[in-house]
Amino acid sequence: MIEPSHYLSSIVKDLKPSGIRKFFDLAAGMEGVISLGVGEPDFVTPWNIREASILSLEQGYTSYTANAGLIELRNEISGYLKEVTSLDYDPKSELLVTVGASQALDIALRAIVNPGDEVIVIEPSFVSYASLVSLAGGVPVSVQTSGDMEFKLQPEELEKAITEKTKAIILCSPNNPTGTLLVKEELERLAEIIEKHDLIVISDEIYAELTYDDVYTSFVSIAGMAERTILISGFSKGFAMTGWRLGYVAAQPELLSAMLKIHQYSMMCAPTMAQFAAIEAMKNGKEDVLHMKKSYRQRRNLFVAALNEIGLTCHVPGGAFYAFPSIKKTNLTSEEFAEQLLIEEKVAVVPGSVFGECGEGFIRCSYATSLEQLQEALKRMQRFVQRRV
Ligand code: PMP
Repeated sequence: MIEPSHYLSSIVKDLKPSGIRKFFDLAAGMEGVISLGVGEPDFVTPWNIREASILSLEQGYTSYTANAGLIELRNEISGYLKEVTSLDYDPKSELLVTVGASQALDIALRAIVNPGDEVIVIEPSFVSYASLVSLAGGVPVSVQTSGDMEFKLQPEELEKAITEKTKAIILCSPNNPTGTLLVKEELERLAEIIEKHDLIVISDEIYAELTYDDVYTSFVSIAGMAERTILISGFSKGFAMTGWRLGYVAAQPELLSAMLKIHQYSMMCAPTMAQFAAIEAMKNGKEDVLHMKKSYRQRRNLFVAALNEIGLTCHVPGGAFYAFPSIKKTNLTSEEFAEQLLIEEKVAVVPGSVFGECGEGFIRCSYATSLEQLQEALKRMQRFVQRRV
């Protein structure tokens, strides 16, 4: 008999399992649960996008594509980024199609991190960042933000966390789990510090299409930042394509070719049929995206107003499809709140603590579910809160 743990990498052994999964598993065994837990659109991918993929299969496009992705798709992405960022990314040397933004994050980190390099992660943060930094051999350094400031990273907090070992910072706006959107002036203040300390930025802009009030600014369009920024985005959220597993990276040629090296050995290329779907998404997806965005906005307005009414104070999130209300008045920890709410009222939310220390006292609710379900969930949450205060 072998002792499996003896063979495991110590980095993997030390990784914590995602705190989100635990709640999915608990909810999966129950009936009548309203889930505000999952971070994905409730829309099915628009039909024309699905059809383009079906057509590619009918036509027999079932082999590998170029490592960096179909050139036609890269051309489309380049045009799309030009509209959003005003920058010209060369499809041949500055763009790479990946298996979701997830793979893009992984190879971006592996391309730049040497053992012991520090990478700054702003909390509350998407659960993968810190683990991906560790897997790349780096050291994640968390910087806290505060609910009082709508979880916006304060430049002085960033500066305090920088040491001579800091190589990079991961930014995410609009943010998961808080929905917080950083506007141009806020990004500019961060850029000053980033430039001063000569850091690389990994800018996760997967929710770029889903911003509701303020104008969306990509970090690469802040003066001087494009050359030091690895821009990561994809199709999962804005185009309702989570299951297609398609994302992309834009970066200057030297950074991009380092990522391409890892990609070609570990992945070969992103799924071909999904790439054909993505071409259609880029060409003709605009209206559908706007339609979905309008619907999320309506739900955000209703949901966030109602949370505040029942005493779960919540800032108005500028983007994505998450609300991150305070549960402090219930005197429960976020884990207790989520567990008891699930058992007593069958509503699944995610405890804020899984997204980092400063997430304690908050819960993440995804409002990407039907209005009826949201209204029912709110009723149940109100009953739950009333019993606690
Ligand atoms: N970044 C963030 C902030 C996310 O919320 C997610 C998905 N939950 C991802 C990246 C991964 O997206 P993809 O499906 O493109 O891998």
